[in-house]
Amino acid sequence: MLPGPELRFVNVSRSYGMIAAVSDVRLTIAAGSFVALVGASGSGKSTLLKTVNRLVAPDSGHVEIAGLRSDTQPDHALRRAIGYVFQNIGLFPHMSVADNIGIGLKLRGQADRSARIAEMLALVGLDPALAERMPDALSGGQRQRVGVARALAPASGLLLMDEPFGALDPITRDELGREMRDLHQRLGLTTIMVTHDMAEALLLADRVVVMAGGRIAGNATPTELLAGAGGSEAQALVAVPREQARRLAMMSNPDSGYSGHG
Ligand code: ADP
Ligand code: MG
Repeated sequence: MLPGPELRFVNVSRSYGMIAAVSDVRLTIAAGSFVALVGASGSGKSTLLKTVNRLVAPDSGHVEIAGLRSDTQPDHALRRAIGYVFQNIGLFPHMSVADNIGIGLKLRGQADRSARIAEMLALVGLDPALAERMPDALSGGQRQRVGVARALAPASGLLLMDEPFGALDPITRDELGREMRDLHQRLGLTTIMVTHDMAEALLLADRVVVMAGGRIAGNATPTELLAGAGGSEAQALVAVPREQARRLAMMSNPDSGYSGHG
């Protein structure tokens, strides 16, 4: 399986009125890597991600996918070729699971879609019997799986996810996170996942890119971040799960005299 494409942000900027949502971002994402994009709310994560599939057009700068500028093809063709998963997945409520998964294939004129739909259901661990259900007859986790299947059905190699599991309970979220990492590996994708959860980022990603105020404030591997590198913004985020782990460890050690809530 070929790895997903390399991605380059070349001096990408985007403002909304007076707000500089993304400022002069220069960033290369290696082919086949899994990158977590983290940072405070409003730091520009979603805007930067959307410049890749041009749901947001940069004011200046551009994005290169496998060495080709993304603005050299029509936006609709670009979007169809890039998997995109977001929090409130936006399944079409009046369409069955199978039709939702097959929509990208249908839009590009593929007549025989059933084999690919069955393959995608299996890929994301959904019972084939769910194919004819409507989205409102699924659990939240099942809906996100359908969203992932829909994003991957056209086989683009590039997967963008914007807080994909934010609305799920912690157990389902953890399970889906691991499965996404596994899928990423098996399919050889290039994956960018926006999350505000540094623990999730550290556990799933090859690299963690930290945004602050529309700029890249850090770009390091989980190992580097856990060793204290990556810059002060990154370390402030790493401190949260680390401190939680420390408190839990103390609570489970009866000799520590720790009673919790400290
Ligand atoms: P994040 O995903 O990190 O929370 P966003 O990229 O959504 O950040 O937003 C970055 C900044 O741009 C914020 O100040 C936000 O309010 C602003 N912004 C984002 N989208 C729009 C929009 N469509 N119109 C106006 N301002 C926006
Ligand atoms: Mg966002």
